[in-house]
Formats: sequence, structure tokens, C-alpha cells
Amino acid sequence: MSLQSKVMENNHTSQRRIVVLGAGESGTGAAILAKDKGFDVFVSDYGNISPRYKETLDREGIAWEEGQHSLDRILAADEVIKSPGIADTTAVMQKVISKNIPVISEIEFAGRYTDSKMICITGSNGKTTTTLLTYHILRHAGLDVGLAGNVGNSLALQVARDPHACYVIELSSFQLDNMYDFKANIAVIMNITPDHLDRYDYKMQNYVNAKFRILQNMTPADAFIFWKDDPVVSAQLKKISTEAEMFPFTAKDEETCAAYVDAENDLIISTPESSLAMPRADLALNGIHNLYNSMAAGLSACLLNIRKDDIRAALSDFTGVEHRLEPAGTTGGVEWINDSKATNVNSCWYALDSMTKPTVLILGGKDKGNDYNEILPLVKEKVKAIVAMGKDNTKIIDFFKDSGIEVRDTNSLADAVSECRSLACPGDVVLLSPCCASFDLFSSYEDRGRQFKAAVAELSE
Ligand code: ADP
Repeated sequence: MSLQSKVMENNHTSQRRIVVLGAGESGTGAAILAKDKGFDVFVSDYGNISPRYKETLDREGIAWEEGQHSLDRILAADEVIKSPGIADTTAVMQKVISKNIPVISEIEFAGRYTDSKMICITGSNGKTTTTLLTYHILRHAGLDVGLAGNVGNSLALQVARDPHACYVIELSSFQLDNMYDFKANIAVIMNITPDHLDRYDYKMQNYVNAKFRILQNMTPADAFIFWKDDPVVSAQLKKISTEAEMFPFTAKDEETCAAYVDAENDLIISTPESSLAMPRADLALNGIHNLYNSMAAGLSACLLNIRKDDIRAALSDFTGVEHRLEPAGTTGGVEWINDSKATNVNSCWYALDSMTKPTVLILGGKDKGNDYNEILPLVKEKVKAIVAMGKDNTKIIDFFKDSGIEVRDTNSLADAVSECRSLACPGDVVLLSPCCASFDLFSSYEDRGRQFKAAVAELSE
């Protein structure tokens, strides 16, 4: 541990009482690390804590409550570690803020107790895929690496009990909101499109600012990887300055970028540490969005000086991530694809862009203020029919009714799958890429994707 970290640790240990709000993966991990470091820890969750985490907290001798927030104990905290799911507008956070109690995220807390290399990935879309792909490359190359943030295990828990030399961390804007001194060694911004604006006063700039917090505290020895052609990222880069060395990537043939595609359709990645070329066709993941994800992961790997052969092999044999353009089976010559994680219009755009066959598209769910104009040209080009699947499909039906594309109205997964079956011919694709959150008919996007795969499996029996 560096001298600076030790000093910080001592400073923070003098703040004796830590309250952890939210007892999920990150909160439970943060509580364990805080306990190990000698803090007096109390965990409070307004909902129900899953039995697994209750058992862990009991085993560790950490006090907790569920179904309530005891304000007397919470407001006695010297510092609060808040789950990213809890908005500042909640009653408990309003009280904490009015008492000026410092609020940090689990990642910020964990960062105080480790000097390991941090590869941090944010963006509106592509975070999980890029994080898992980067982790896959580093593991394939034999690095001692941990997976943390929105995917994987709590960073704090790993720092406390299972430390690694480096971590690949998926960061949401909500985690970044409560990060201050944490420093990434490699920071990645995949893209920025409107999302979660309800948590940012409906101001896009607030959301952009949150994403750019990933660059805080970076020095010239650190690297910033970003998509050069993203208009929002480019505009923000004109407003801010960073000391980190910049590594832009593009799908165009632009040698000035650190990663690009040349005239021979080879992916070129070039950093001061290492460079490599590989045919784009060898990438395991298809679609232009996955080209970006592969570039970002490949750039991080080159910066970490991973052997070129290891990077190429890992970029070619990655099996993809569940619910992201995941093959769900073939029935009677029709291919079914589960892209249930496409919970906004932009991610559906990329899914449609990568379709090469006539497509029956399943749209619908809980609308987050969608503007379907963004996908209209691609829908006209590639989609033969839309099956709307949701409690209330009025918006989708109204939007597409004059587009010349057939739209069918369904209110359950079983009905949607049966409509798709009657609409799709051999050689077609059925794509579940709903543009919407799942909570009207399902418990989560994972639940939606799994039910979809099960329904397709039943068709093939
Ligand atoms: P996130 O973790 O940011 O939500 P995922 O990797 O889980 O991102 O992908 C979410 C959805 O976004 C998927 O449905 C996928 O089709 C789409 N997607 C993946 N990568 C990108 C990208 N680089 N740009 C735009 N869309 C993407």
C-alpha cells in the first residue's frame, strides 16, 4: 500500500461510524471491508434483503435492518456508503444530504484500500459486453484479474478477502455520481446517449457530467479510451481537459486513431506499449457495436502489454453475453435472437443494424420516453413485421401504423411468440430487442430473456 493510501486509511478510520444503505452485492461487500478496517458498521435496507446477504452479514457480525430506515442510527454516521440504486430524492437521502454527511459509492470506498490497476468502463450501451470481453482477454492471458462493478462480485469484498493485481470494473453513472478520489488507470467511455434522465433532473448535461467523472484524478500515466465518432463525447471533450493520454477508436479507416478498420477490413490497434492487426471477420462478436466493444477491450489489453496472440485468440473465441444478441435457437428455418437487454432505442438500433435477414421484431414493455424515429429507417429497411408485446402497446401501434409495416398487438410472451411464429418464414429472423424496460410483464430483462428462450425451446420440441 502506498504512503498516500495509508494516510487516507488512517484518516478514514478516524471516522468511526459507517452506514451502508442498500444490502445487495455492493453494499454487503462494502460492509465487510468496512468491518475489516475497524469501522463500526450498520447496514440499512428499505426493501427485503436477500437471505444470502443476511446470512453473510450475520456470519460477519455486522448489524443490519430491512424494511425500514432507522434515521437515528443512519444520521449518526460519519460517512454513508450508498447503493447506486438509491436516488438522492428518496426521503432517507434527503435527510442524509441535509445533515451534510459525506456519501460515497462502494467503488470509491474500495479504491481507498488498494493500489491495484483499475480498468473502468462506462457508457450508455456496451458496458457489460466490453467489461466481460476485457476480463476474458486478461484472464486468457493469465493475469491475476477480478471482475467488479455492475457485473461480477463486489469490488470491496474482493479487496477485503480475495485481492487481485488488477480489476475490470463496469461503472454506471449512478456509481460515478458518488466517486471523488478514486482513480482509474484505464478509463473507457463507450458512448453517451440519453438514458436514466429521470435521475438527472431531465438534463442531458448532468448525465454527461456523471459519465465523465470516470476521468477524475487521472494523470499523464493513465489512459482514456473513447469512441471518437460519438457527438456527445466529442462535444464534452471540447469543454473539459484531462491529463490522461487519449486513445480514440473508430470504425473508419483513420490512422490517427488508436484503433480503426483499414481498407483491407483489418482491425488495427496501436498503442505505445503494443500494436496488433487482425481480420475483422475473426472477431467472435458481430455487428458494428461489437466492433467498438472489441476495439475498446483490445486497446485496454494492448495498453497492459498482453501478448498479441493472446488478445487475438480471446477476441475470436469470446462466447458473448446472455441476453445481448444471444442466439436462442432455430425452428423450421427461422432464427430466434434474444436481445432482451436492449432496454432503450439506441441499443435496438445496433441490433437491427447487425441483422442480415428479414426480421420480425418484438418491441414493447415499459416505455422510458422512447422516440422511435431513431429506428424508423432501419425498421423500414429490415423489418417485415412488428409484434408489440406489453401491457399497453398504444404508443408503438400509433407510431408504426402508417409505416407500411404490419404491427400485431399482444399482451403476453406466449401470444407474442405465437404471432412471430405465424409471421416468420424459413430464412427469417425473430428478434426480441424491445427498446423498453421489462417491468410491465416481467420481473427483469433477464426474466424476459429467459422466458423467451424457454418459449422458443418449447417450439422446437
Ligand atoms: P450495458 O451494460 O451498457 O447496458 P450491454 O453490453 O449489456 O450494455 O448491451 C446492452 C444492449 O446494447 C445490447 O442489447 C446490445 O445489443 C447493445 N449494445 C452493446 N454494445 C453496444 C455499443 N457499443 N453501442 C450501442 N449499443 C450496444
